[in-house]
Amino acid sequence: MLMEWLIIALLLVALIAALVWNRILRRKLREAPPQPPPMSHPPSEDYSSLFQASMEAIDVGVAIVDKHLRVRFSNRRCLELLGRRMSEIRDRSLIVLLRDPRAEALVKEAIERREERADILRPVLTRHTIDFRCVPLEQGGALLLLRDLTRLSQLERARRDLIANVSHDLRTPLTSLRLLVETLQTSPPPEVVERMLHQMQGEIDGLTTLVNKLYDLSEIESGRLILQLQPFPAGALVERAIERINPHAQQHNLTLSSAVAEDLPSILVDRDRMEQALLNLLQNAVKFTPPGGKISVVAAPATPSGSRQDGEQWVEIVVSDTGPGIPPEDLPRIFERFYKVDRSRTRGSGGMGLGLAIAKHLVEGHGGRIWAESTFGEGSSFHILLPAAK
Ligand code: ADP
Repeated sequence: MLMEWLIIALLLVALIAALVWNRILRRKLREAPPQPPPMSHPPSEDYSSLFQASMEAIDVGVAIVDKHLRVRFSNRRCLELLGRRMSEIRDRSLIVLLRDPRAEALVKEAIERREERADILRPVLTRHTIDFRCVPLEQGGALLLLRDLTRLSQLERARRDLIANVSHDLRTPLTSLRLLVETLQTSPPPEVVERMLHQMQGEIDGLTTLVNKLYDLSEIESGRLILQLQPFPAGALVERAIERINPHAQQHNLTLSSAVAEDLPSILVDRDRMEQALLNLLQNAVKFTPPGGKISVVAAPATPSGSRQDGEQWVEIVVSDTGPGIPPEDLPRIFERFYKVDRSRTRGSGGMGLGLAIAKHLVEGHGGRIWAESTFGEGSSFHILLPAAK
């Protein structure tokens, strides 16, 4: 009997224990966070190579520093922007990478205060303009992000230069015109009046050229200019431009010569626009060559290297002068709009640094090429290469 009661008591204890255990288990399950679905992505080594590949592909400089400001990671773009090599900076202090104590202090501050910091960097080695962001990481250390703003800041500078150039180049002739008008109002002798009217005419011509060039450039750059292409004999085009520049060359006591090959093919051109490009080169030659100098125009058939098809015919026109030449460091930039080699040298010449930019747009719009060669102190030659009409 006692045995039976003992068994029943044991069974009851086991039942109660099972119930309590069941309740505890259910509560635990309720409290437990939801489990993520089974992983279908690659194991962690693949992630590391994926991360590396992405870091090499992106156009943003990325670097990671630990809390002791040691460089733990840096992608290719970051090294390019700062002008460093991987071997120089791996596991070295941040200052070796940045070479900028101010930027280093910024990173330190971001890590200490656990707040993002940003600044503009101009590394001594590359002279880029960089948007530099420093994001503190939870584990300590920081993520550095570097974005190249060089192009944007160049555009911004070009915009500022445009306003400064236009206002300067308009103000000078306007001041001179105002002075001339004021003098005319004092009823000077007839010969002075005549001289002044002549000067006024010159200033107005200069202003008109300026405004026309600005208008042309804006038409070209906005894509509103449509070229009316027609076959035209290349020789006739060159002769027409020479005829137009000849009086100016004589006025400046310059010798103008030309050599136009007889067998020149026709070219597919917008005659007025191509003549304008050629005239821009000739006007520069006249403007920059001192009296007594020489200007020559040579036009001949050409076969440029890298020509697209065998047997394709091209025409090369070369305008050379015995002027001051262009320093080698300026040569690659003279076709940029508003670029002038030496502002003091071109002062008063009425140039705004637009003529070559317009010529380049026009020549390239015809499927051609334009470039300059020069020996500083001896002279310059400008080459136009145009495909012949088929
Ligand atoms: P600009 O209207 O000032 O002449 P361009 O675009 O035609 O502007 O030329 C840009 C700059 O290139 C000029 O300001 C000048 O410094 C230089 N340049 C152009 N042509 C010549 C040349 N034949 N000889 C020397 N310098 C030249």
